[in-house]
Amino acid sequence: MANHPSLPRICIPATGRTTPELLDYARRALCCTRFVELRLDWVANPADVLPAIPPLLAESASQLGTRALVLATCRRQPNGGRFAGTVAEQFEVLEKAAAAGCRLVDLEIESAEAAGPDAVARLRRAAWLVLSFHDFRSLPKLAPIVRRLRKFPADCYKLVGTATRQTDNSRILAFLDSTTERTAQGNWIAFCMGEVGVPSRILALARGSRFVYAACPPDADARTISGPPAELAAPGLLDWTTLRDRYRADHLTPRSALYGLLGCPVRHSIGAAIHNAAFRARGLDAVYLPLLASDLRNFRKAAEGFPLAGFSVTIPHKQRMLRWVDRADRAARAAGAVNTVRVRRGRWEAINTDIAGIVAPLRRAFRLGEREPLPAGFRAVIVGNGGAARAALIALQELRCRSIAVTGRNPAKGSRLARDLGGKPLPLEQLERERFDLLVHATPVGMWPRAGESILRPEQLNGGLVFDLVYNPPETRLLELAWARGCRTISGLEMFLAQAARQFAYWTGLEPPHHLMRRVALDELRRFPEGGGTEQRQQ
Ligand code: NAP
Repeated sequence: MANHPSLPRICIPATGRTTPELLDYARRALCCTRFVELRLDWVANPADVLPAIPPLLAESASQLGTRALVLATCRRQPNGGRFAGTVAEQFEVLEKAAAAGCRLVDLEIESAEAAGPDAVARLRRAAWLVLSFHDFRSLPKLAPIVRRLRKFPADCYKLVGTATRQTDNSRILAFLDSTTERTAQGNWIAFCMGEVGVPSRILALARGSRFVYAACPPDADARTISGPPAELAAPGLLDWTTLRDRYRADHLTPRSALYGLLGCPVRHSIGAAIHNAAFRARGLDAVYLPLLASDLRNFRKAAEGFPLAGFSVTIPHKQRMLRWVDRADRAARAAGAVNTVRVRRGRWEAINTDIAGIVAPLRRAFRLGEREPLPAGFRAVIVGNGGAARAALIALQELRCRSIAVTGRNPAKGSRLARDLGGKPLPLEQLERERFDLLVHATPVGMWPRAGESILRPEQLNGGLVFDLVYNPPETRLLELAWARGCRTISGLEMFLAQAARQFAYWTGLEPPHHLMRRVALDELRRFPEGGGTEQRQQ
């Protein structure tokens, strides 16, 4: 067994199709950390990389003041890697990598079993051995895998599956809890791959994983929102900056309070950036995770396993969540939808902060005191008839607006909404003949990646004020048209920030850091490429 190196907590896997590409990635990784994995299996002939390892180590020593810790991996094709050679050739590459200065090697269990204990023990004498199991489709039962891995003495065991539902994350975290209870210093690395598995990557260190992986941060001038570089070492891999700065994965503890965004999809939400920044600003040991889930029954079980302290709810779960909570406030019941849940003594308590998120900017725009109603005779029209339109209708009723018209592309749905909640249906064709004090736009038209579209024509904008609930981009085409028509405008970002601030207060009981939340939201929104970028085709 090689001497135990003291391991940093985050390792960056370097990939590349050619030796120069691989080394270039490794050099960029070494700007963040001294702990880098060389994916030798990515290049056509891994032996070509070996002579470059000693100079890379020397370079790192002069740059970092300490030698890089390099983990060599040469995973075979049948086991999810790219190396086309035999098991014997794989061992040869790994042994030569160790001789070239790699202090650690990763060997998959399938190759260990094929080569037998003597070959594995010999490799372990050359370098610190990470014996790994990967499943690229699911997270199977853990106990048989643990037994299989444990048959071979190793310095560290790595158990990585693919999460297909949130209970996979809670299972792997419970497994880590159990391993660190038994040994003072965990010698397991465990998490789930895939977008669903992201929470386990963020929480693994807190639960005792020896280390986790992150991709190189994107170039400073890169538009990151379209996703990291096309080819990642593993699905769901977060970049270094996101893992450390946004989620503070290496500062979380088993006692950190866990929050998140439940939805499907959750990838482009700016909520994680805002809430994590707010937790940090208020000195809270808490994190807000992306919780991609489609099955609410499974989510409830996972949430109890994590355990979650609270979460936001977004499309498509806002309405259905009402059935899963133990208590909902009057506004949430009236809206028939929930967007915020907190967990108190195991009970799920819910509110709908979208309503407050619409009321607050309107109070500011019309200079209304805390309980002051809108003036008598105030006329409002809502365009759209989904969840946001419902929230807008209730918000306007809270402000005691007596004339609320509902319009949209689907007159039957509009009539139903108006009948249910007490508005007046208005055919869309009549909009341009009417005058309103306020027009609320509550459809996704104009939202990124289809920014630039407007559901309404200028002649239909005969209102004093146009409130577009779309917040990405903050300045929509509709708002531009409204401005040009001489209307006052409110961006959906005002609603987003107001509802997020209410969520923060509901969960923590603290005053939200409003200015910071706005600054972070604007920074995040600036990262979305104009015109939709590469995501346009995928949405
Ligand atoms: P929803 O429940 O799915 O309702 C969407 C509404 O938009 C429906 O009335 C739908 O009409 C209509 N619609 C969809 N595509 C349309 C199109 N191409 N042309 C005309 N009408 C169309 O969604 P929601 O929860 O109400 O959210 C609507 C939008 O509000 C979101 O996309 C988001 O931009 C915004 N929002 C903002 C915040 C915030 O914090 N600022 C919060 C929530 C929502 P049909 O019924 O005919 O399909």
